[in-house]
Amino acid sequence: METFKKYGYEVRKIYDNTYRIMDNDACSSYLIIGSKKCMLVDTGCASGDLRKLVDEICQNKEYFVINTHGHDDHVAANYQFDKVYIGKEDEQMMKNLFLYEKEKEIFYEEMKTYASATADIHHFSTKEYFDNFANAKITFSIEYLKDGMLFDLGDSEIKAIHIPGHTPGGYCFLDIKYRRLYVGDAVLRHASVLHVGGMKISDFINGLKKLKTYASDFDWIIAAHGHRQHGFRPLEPFFIDKLIECAENIDVSKSIERHEADGDGYEYYLNGGRYEDYDSVSIAYKLISLD
Ligand SMILES: [Zn+2]
Ligand SMILES: [Zn+2]
Repeated sequence: METFKKYGYEVRKIYDNTYRIMDNDACSSYLIIGSKKCMLVDTGCASGDLRKLVDEICQNKEYFVINTHGHDDHVAANYQFDKVYIGKEDEQMMKNLFLYEKEKEIFYEEMKTYASATADIHHFSTKEYFDNFANAKITFSIEYLKDGMLFDLGDSEIKAIHIPGHTPGGYCFLDIKYRRLYVGDAVLRHASVLHVGGMKISDFINGLKKLKTYASDFDWIIAAHGHRQHGFRPLEPFFIDKLIECAENIDVSKSIERHEADGDGYEYYLNGGRYEDYDSVSIAYKLISLD
């Protein structure tokens, strides 16, 4: 498939109607091109001029921007746009990144850790990257997503599905005609309720069970992470069951410790698998997420 680099991003056409916008391999945003309108799913880590890129790809078509959830690696380039849609429960979390120096510092720390852990990605430890983001402010308007909300792109409709768990205001987006589900971090091979806004494991399980009620409506799950080691890899729906199984069987004594910029916790691997294993799943959590 066609790949090009522009304005700080690597872009790959993954389906006839969808581009994957890679933010130096940290987070993937997706741009869905409808016959009438386009939709940008997440704005990533702000490693370049995302707006210019999206303007160019969409040409003269109108587009709108949504956040799957409020975590910084999915919302950082919001400031480049005029309006974003987000779940109400995640609004403050998203705003905090632009309002408080402390939040920016945590974000930088996360990105630096990420840069140091990934040999060929120096971008996130450069002064240029931090300087560009230092002045990012909330100049965009905010609209709330609602469960069941439909976005008409012309040839296809996108349904917003509220899936709390990873965060309280998390949303998944179903491309109805093409039977694809864009999930952000709600379904990852290595899922987490460890980060800011993370909920209880029971909430995470309930969210996934809600998603399962839509199982007959999609063939592929398209996540924001998990494509680094093996290239773009949409997940088959059975991963939802694997994650539920993993979450229901968490055993602290068999978990490994995790240390993150926004908190410490544990990670439990289903069947003792490892991160590198192609089909392994895990969930990162805090002890209080088990209550
Ligand atoms: Zn997240
Ligand atoms: Zn993420």
